[in-house]
Amino acid sequence: MYEFSLTNSVAGTALSLCKKAGWSKIRRILVKVGGMRKINPELMSFIFTSLVKDTPAEGALLSVMIIPVTLHCCTCGHVSVREDTQFLCPSCGSRNVQLLSGLEFNIEVLEVES
Ligand SMILES: [Zn+2]
Repeated sequence: MYEFSLTNSVAGTALSLCKKAGWSKIRRILVKVGGMRKINPELMSFIFTSLVKDTPAEGALLSVMIIPVTLHCCTCGHVSVREDTQFLCPSCGSRNVQLLSGLEFNIEVLEVES
């Protein structure tokens, strides 16, 4: 399950930061995930809740922000935002496209109690 490994990595990173910094509690985590990764945000929140039981992140809210897939066409220069994951320029039909965004995976905001 892809969501499990991503969520596990978020929880692990947040908890190790928390331990290092000496925070007492994690309240909220906002993660940015690129649309190419095709994850299910609800599933990630659900997995997160069970993963952080009995840790300083217990009860914290995991919000997932999906970053749209943006393509730059190397043939005509058109930049498009795609809902699907097809590598095709909608303007000229060229497959010579470059991915500008859509593969992100990082913790954007961490709200804690110190
Ligand atoms: Zn094009």
